[in-house]
Amino acid sequence: MICPNCEYEFIEGITECPDCNIDLISLDDFEGNVVHHKDWVVVFTTSDIIEAEMMKSNLEGADIEALILSQKDRSLPGVGDLSIIKLLVKKIESNDAILIINDINQTNRE
Ligand SMILES: [Zn+2]
Repeated sequence: MICPNCEYEFIEGITECPDCNIDLISLDDFEGNVVHHKDWVVVFTTSDIIEAEMMKSNLEGADIEALILSQKDRSLPGVGDLSIIKLLVKKIESNDAILIINDINQTNRE
């Protein structure tokens, strides 16, 4: 079993992540969401899908394959549409991706 939020793995019998207070899912389900999950790392998180898509297209413009994983934040019941959007890239490309993301964030601030 794995926590879909913090991605910690737990032994069988535990159904809820003690850190995030959300239901665990099976590792199979989790890896069904992200192909070869272990080869991908999260380089950026946001609650804004437009920002995530913008980052993704910037990375793809630099020939870095990127994946958007969107997930309802069940740790905040009642908020409704709020979700955590994660941007993933392949581990070997993560350093380049982080440089690009930092660049974009800096440009936005200026
Ligand atoms: Zn957790």
